[in-house]
Amino acid sequence: MIISIRSQATSEERAQLIAHICRIIGGQHPITTTMMDERELLVLDSTHLNKEAQTLLSQQEAVEQITHVKTPYKLVSRAFKTENTRILVGNAHECERVIIGGTPTPAIIAGPCAVENRKQLLSTAYAVKNAGANVLRGGAFKPRTSPYQFQGLGIEGLHLLAEARQETGLPVITEVMEPDMVEAVAHYADILQIGSRNMQNYPLLLAAGHHGQKRPVMLKRGLSATLDEWLLAAEYIVAAGNPNVILCERGIRGYDPQTRNVLDLSCVPLLQELTHLPIVVDPSHATGRRELVPIMSRASIAAGANGLIIEVHSDPNNALCDGRQSITPEQLQKIVHETRVLAQMMSEEMVEVRVA
Ligand code: PEP
Ligand code: MN
Repeated sequence: MIISIRSQATSEERAQLIAHICRIIGGQHPITTTMMDERELLVLDSTHLNKEAQTLLSQQEAVEQITHVKTPYKLVSRAFKTENTRILVGNAHECERVIIGGTPTPAIIAGPCAVENRKQLLSTAYAVKNAGANVLRGGAFKPRTSPYQFQGLGIEGLHLLAEARQETGLPVITEVMEPDMVEAVAHYADILQIGSRNMQNYPLLLAAGHHGQKRPVMLKRGLSATLDEWLLAAEYIVAAGNPNVILCERGIRGYDPQTRNVLDLSCVPLLQELTHLPIVVDPSHATGRRELVPIMSRASIAAGANGLIIEVHSDPNNALCDGRQSITPEQLQKIVHETRVLAQMMSEEMVEVRVA
């Protein structure tokens, strides 16, 4: 249940409402207070409330409206908010601004898996910009399967990303792995990435929701997460106060080592029914094979994705991380062109269908 509080409610009426809810749901269940679209909301699990209790609740002075949402996730559900969330990226730093979600133009995020050094990052940043990308990616903190693999440059990597933004004007996205690092990473980044391995790291999700700067968060799907688990992880961030969440499908664990993961493209149209949040696809981690990236990029846009995140390296065979799935800037340019043409055709087609 989502209770929207009247903007003119007095603090006494508000306190009365909260006391009333505590009485009827008991002390064990949390009541979450949050702001969304400039409205103050109370969110609670109302499965234990009978009809009479619900009627009494709706009669409280402070209540403006009550929305019943049947799914376990509430604020991120399409049932609560019908219009697509549009996320503005790049407004915190001097750089280009990009909208992700709610527009027919897909956002293209591209760059190396890891920031390796200044020369590599700056040359790749210019190359992806020239290829038509809107956002630069690059991991400074890398969650590697083996402790003996390159772990990223850390803070130095963040400095290099800020320099690449200043040089090219592209906003940047980078991964944050620990709650205590959220403020620091948000200081440099235009989008915080929460990686697949951390999708259910609840302290990290809460920190990404609470932090002062409210940077957009790209939440990657866990290695074997169901859509409900993924949407509930997104709900943690939104309920904690940050409504700017972008979902990223990056493939789920399969049994066939031919591809690194299994790209679950059916989740794109399904998520569009379930949630108002934008959805981006990562064909690089999903397939693990660079030759599959162009076609899976087109397939993602055809399925309705709001954007793509693609790993690009000028010398993929010598990349310190994920070279096998990295494409060159020239290949990216072709993908950008093809996916924009496809998205344009799809939006014209939609208009024709609507008119007919
Ligand atoms: C990445 O984007 O470099 C990454 C580590 O992705 P994932 O969390 O999806 O494995
Ligand atoms: Mn990678």
